[in-house]
Amino acid sequence: VEFRRMAARMGQAGLKVKSVIVVGSGKGGVGKSTVAASIALSLQKFGSKVGLMDADVYGPSIPQLLGLDGRPAITESKRIEPIKTVGGMPVMSMGFLVEPDQAVIWRGPMLHGSINQFLGETDWGELDYLVIDMPPGTGDVALTLSQAIPIAGSVIVCTPQEVALLDAIKAISMFRKVKIPILGMVENMSGFLCPDNGKTYDIFGRGGARERAEEKDVAFLGTLPIDITLRIAGDEGRLAEVLAENDQSRAPVDAITKAL
Ligand code: ADP
Repeated sequence: VEFRRMAARMGQAGLKVKSVIVVGSGKGGVGKSTVAASIALSLQKFGSKVGLMDADVYGPSIPQLLGLDGRPAITESKRIEPIKTVGGMPVMSMGFLVEPDQAVIWRGPMLHGSINQFLGETDWGELDYLVIDMPPGTGDVALTLSQAIPIAGSVIVCTPQEVALLDAIKAISMFRKVKIPILGMVENMSGFLCPDNGKTYDIFGRGGARERAEEKDVAFLGTLPIDITLRIAGDEGRLAEVLAENDQSRAPVDAITKAL
């Protein structure tokens, strides 16, 4: 009943989407936005209609990773026109609304309002999936989202380092508290394969996420290695192009997407 009530509310708000997937991490800088954007692009590659919403209002990095700028236009019917990326994928981010070097100070109600506006007042079109990049840390946005829309599930990204794993466990309990189903955990920056000698170096460690996932009874979706092409792609705003061109970077993302 609750689910149907939310679905009806979402329909009234004009959001037509079959499944909403949120990507969270607990800790910042672990590759959550990279994974969120990569999952969205991979779902699109497999033939779905996908939208990408950057709810990381404190540090919106989706525009940078995908090389997007500009201001969303307002349509005649007073709706927000998202910025389009490859394949016409609609993207909405706080990064389009504030200057890049400006700090945004959020009060709870403002945060709540802008998240709801991103969901309900953006012209997403008809989507199979809306992938939402969550802010790290506190549960405010998770709570707002869980009350606004039915969420099919969450993906938790972490690195193998103990500090990241601890925060990922907090994210698991936060998602459980707000009743967002957990699809599984991804271990990012898991080992570096040296192209010069073919050896793998576990710079941040390895395997911690799988262990914690088992302990917490959460599915383990897979690992993404430290990949210099991904880092350069992100810095140059070419993540979409590089994932489209580079089989080696794309393969783990596709495997993770298929495991969802
Ligand atoms: P978060 O959203 O968790 O803050 P980002 O996705 O913005 O993290 O990633 C942080 C930085 O790490 C970015 O510069 C990104 O390009 C880089 N990065 C993410 N994943 C990888 C990876 N597997 N290999 C190399 N660099 C990565």
